[in-house]
Amino acid sequence: MKLSRLSASEAVDVPHVDLPAQYRALRAEIDGAIVRVLEGGSFILGENVRALEEEFGAYCDCAHGVAVGSGTEALHLALAACGVGHGDRVITVPNAAVFPLSAICAVGAEPVLVDVDPKTHCLDPNRLAEYLKNHFEKHTAGKSTLKAIVVVHLYGHAADMDPILELARRYDLRVVEDCAQAHGARYKDRSVGGIGDAGCFSFYPTKNLGAYGDGGMVLTNDEAIAASVRCLRNYGEERLEGDADRSRFVSRGVNSRLDEIQAAVLRVKLEHLDDWTRRRREIAVLYEDRLTSLEVITPATASYAEHVFHLFVIRSQRREALRRHLHQRGVATLIHYPVPVHLQPAYATSGRTAGSFPVAERLAGEILSLPVHAELTDAQVEHVAHAIRKFEEA
Ligand SMILES: *Cc1c(COP(=O)(O)O)cnc(C)c1O
Repeated sequence: MKLSRLSASEAVDVPHVDLPAQYRALRAEIDGAIVRVLEGGSFILGENVRALEEEFGAYCDCAHGVAVGSGTEALHLALAACGVGHGDRVITVPNAAVFPLSAICAVGAEPVLVDVDPKTHCLDPNRLAEYLKNHFEKHTAGKSTLKAIVVVHLYGHAADMDPILELARRYDLRVVEDCAQAHGARYKDRSVGGIGDAGCFSFYPTKNLGAYGDGGMVLTNDEAIAASVRCLRNYGEERLEGDADRSRFVSRGVNSRLDEIQAAVLRVKLEHLDDWTRRRREIAVLYEDRLTSLEVITPATASYAEHVFHLFVIRSQRREALRRHLHQRGVATLIHYPVPVHLQPAYATSGRTAGSFPVAERLAGEILSLPVHAELTDAQVEHVAHAIRKFEEA
């Protein structure tokens, strides 16, 4: 790779994401797709939603797809379809923001946190094993209210699923994958989303596959879970075969539907997702190459994972100073996420105090997300890397 030299004084703005640039590149396709929906006059649960469910399901090697209103609602309805409800408890991680906890609470269950692996930032199977062993020594199986695990494939890196699935089988727990940051990521040659009981995706605008508004999808290979989510997303309605006028309400559902305009946009963008992921990986390789000799720690990719780099998260002992330095040089950075959920007021309940989850807490003080998106040029990446080098040399 050629090293282009840029001095820190050269003004290069490096935005964290650039959705207008993505739109400009796809304008004709996107505009055409939206106009066809407007002219067709069908806006809810129409042909684009059905086609996207099939196409995105196939993209992730999953038998069934059910489009819903957001990634959080995908988690909520997947948990409900897995039979998780009031009074149950669900394990998740403290470092992936409030989304999984919000969904767990929406079905009336209580979140239980288990700490993460410092290299992958995902659920640590050893800590999970330890937690479950202690728990089931105290609660005989069948009496426990522990029902499921929400595994988050954070930043685009798959969690170590095999030992997690093994534990889930041993203790009879359902596994819901949070794939909101991991469209197309793989674990040992399997696409994330179809590894556990259900996989939940977000199409929030800045995700690797993003709509122009909210959206989400549940993928599953379990026909009963798919049917249940399909019913729950539309008020709990079950259409009666051969009787279009009548419907039966078989469960207490919600209104959580992806609309036709978003589905049409997502179908256009899905065609480009592989190219965008390829570009994200190229950028990651370039960062890795330029930062490898420096003090900052670049993200690790486990041998079992094919990373899709939703985020490129480095670690620094001097994170705040580095962040200020980069902002002064036009580089937009973010922190995913600055406060672990057990220290957020809404979820800081009994026993969850500072020190409860030391790995998540330490990472929260060191992580920094550098810009990574398909529209980024090599020159912009060089500018970011150069600015980090200058910071360390100062
Ligand atoms: C974005 C995100 C969600 C939630 O998706 P929404 O569509 O915003 O509801 C869930 N989990 C993770 C890890 C996310 O990054």
